[in-house]
Parts: sequence; C-alpha cells; structure tokens
Amino acid sequence: MAQAKLTIDLAALRANWRALAHMGQAEAGAVVKADAYGLGIDAVAPALAAEGARRFFVAIAEEGARLRGILGPAPEICVFSGHMAGDATLIRDAQLTPMLNSIDQMLRHVEALPGHAFGIQLDSGMNRLGMEPAEWRALREIALAQRPSLVMSHLACADEPGHPMNDHQLRVFREMTDGIAAPRSLAATGGVLLGSDYHFDVTRPGIGIYGGLPFLDALPVAFVDIPVIQLRDVLPGETVGYGNTWTAERPTRVATIAGGYADGILRSMSHKAFLWAGETRCPVLGRISMDLIGVDVSAVEGEPESLELLGRHQSVDTLADWAGSIGYEILTSLGTRYARAYTGA
Ligand SMILES: *Cc1c(COP(=O)(O)O)cnc(C)c1O
Repeated sequence: MAQAKLTIDLAALRANWRALAHMGQAEAGAVVKADAYGLGIDAVAPALAAEGARRFFVAIAEEGARLRGILGPAPEICVFSGHMAGDATLIRDAQLTPMLNSIDQMLRHVEALPGHAFGIQLDSGMNRLGMEPAEWRALREIALAQRPSLVMSHLACADEPGHPMNDHQLRVFREMTDGIAAPRSLAATGGVLLGSDYHFDVTRPGIGIYGGLPFLDALPVAFVDIPVIQLRDVLPGETVGYGNTWTAERPTRVATIAGGYADGILRSMSHKAFLWAGETRCPVLGRISMDLIGVDVSAVEGEPESLELLGRHQSVDTLADWAGSIGYEILTSLGTRYARAYTGA
C-alpha cells in the first residue's frame, strides 16, 4: 500500500485541552474551525466534548451546522464570522450562536431571528473582525439588553509574551467591557499562556489542543508515516528530482517515498526537511514533488518500509520552520489523501 498514514492521538488531544483548561479558573471552550485544524472534526469534537468542552467555536455557519450534526443539541456552537446575509436558516436550524461583528450584523440578526442567541465580537486593535470602540459605544446598551451569551475579542500578538500589543489590547478590551454582566472572552492558546489576567470567563484555545506552538508543553497529536516505494543507489555526479537541484557527491542510497506537496508537505521545505527511519535522521534530496520525495537513507540499516515525517522526533512547528510557515498551516494543509487512523479514543 502506497498511502501515507496520518495517525491522530485523541488521548493526547484530550490531555492538551485539559492542560489548557486547568491553567486558570475560566471555562475552556474549543476552537474546531477548518475541520478541527485539518485533523477531522468528526472525531476531534466528540473527544473534546467527552473531556468536558461545552462551548465550541467555528469560522463559518456551514461548519457550525456540520458540528451540530456531530455533537447533538447540548453544546453551544459559536460562529466567528457572525451573521452573514443568507445564514438565518442555518443559524436557526442548527441553533448556532453568531458572534456579531458590526451594527449591520446586529440589525440583520435581531430582524431575522428575534430572541435567538448571539455573541458580540469587539475589535480591540487587531483590525480583523469586530466592532470598533465607537461603534460599540453606540450599540452597547441595546446589545447588552438582549443578553449576549458572550462578548469576545482576539489578540494579535499573544504568541509573543513580551509584545506591548498584549497589554494594549487587554486595556482596550477592559475599557470596552468592564462592568457588563455577559461572559467575556479574550484568550486563544497564546492568551491562555499569558496568564489569568487574559482569561476572563471563557477561553478559546485552538492550536495548543492540536499540539502546536505557542503551547510548548503540548503532547504531539498528529503522526505522519510515509511508505517507501522504491530504493536505489546513485553514484557521485547523479542527480535526484525535478530540476536536478541535488547532485550526489558520494554513493547515496535514495528512498522514494509516497508523499508530496499534495499531502501538505510544502514544496518550500525542499533541501531543508528530514524524515526518520527509527532513530536515524534522513535528509530530503532535491525538490519535493506532488506525490513523491527522494530521501537519503544511506545511514539506515536494511531496507526501511516507511519513514516518519511527523511524530516523536519532529513536530508541526519543526516542519513549519523549514517551510517558513507556522504549525497552523502545516496541520491545515495535510489534506485528504492520507489513510487516517484515530487512536486513544
Ligand atoms: C482561530 C481562533 C482562535 C484559536 O486560536 P489558536 O491560536 O489556534 O488557539 C481563537 N479565537 C479566534 C477569534 C480565532 O480566529
């Protein structure tokens, strides 16, 4: 079988969520947008619900409707994009809680679904989503009278603990929300790690649950193993892969493995990445193709059947460094071609 294997450890996932949830007094939600960061919402969301998560966050209403089908009626499902035109039926039928981003969204919501749950998203400085301070001042009393289930904002620089933006956004969020009765939420994974000043009533961890930075102590959740299709010995002067970008300087044993950039092994990792055969580190040779990668297995004893890309030896953030990216992008790029297995359920 030439299908690469993606194993997701649900016990590690649950342990990561629990660890983040126990860092303070706040209720921990769980962010499961983008198919649970690429790891499969059908398995991930029930595992987190079983661990005690009662409030889930998705990016768009369609994701929320799918999640409602998976989780049943009990958990609250919050939608970051708020109430978009055309979403009313989905929001009503799936009992979603839109995080309203503007006065326009507020009007749309109360007109289409009076009495239906909603939250408020405030912009405390990131300038991505949410009501600006002036907009909020105009709407605040009317909005609060209708009892939002959450008032939230998002930090731009929480993965850098010393960044002055964190303090600034905390101050702005406080000014906008101090004294209100509704539950408040500011912290994603980075904010949880900044400490309890940032936690308020509800936290919204995502990446840390899935084993990524900035949660340094996260257990690895995703494991990728890629079968070796063919082994060959190349001589000095011979080249490997498209564009002849790697030339052997010594006799080299090359394993061609069944994975490539179509599996989220980003082409920008070419010439930088490694895989592992047991305890032996094996460099990638030449350019990563769509479905194939050449790997130097000269130092490996015997004939390896598969090589490890993600797992005990290297994390999503190791790969991200090679690609000039972040762990989030590595996870959400993994794609659908893997044979997926869930362990620790
Ligand atoms: C994605 C997202 C989160 C989760 O962020 P992580 O850094 O993955 O923990 C929380 N809140 C909002 C608004 C988001 O967009």
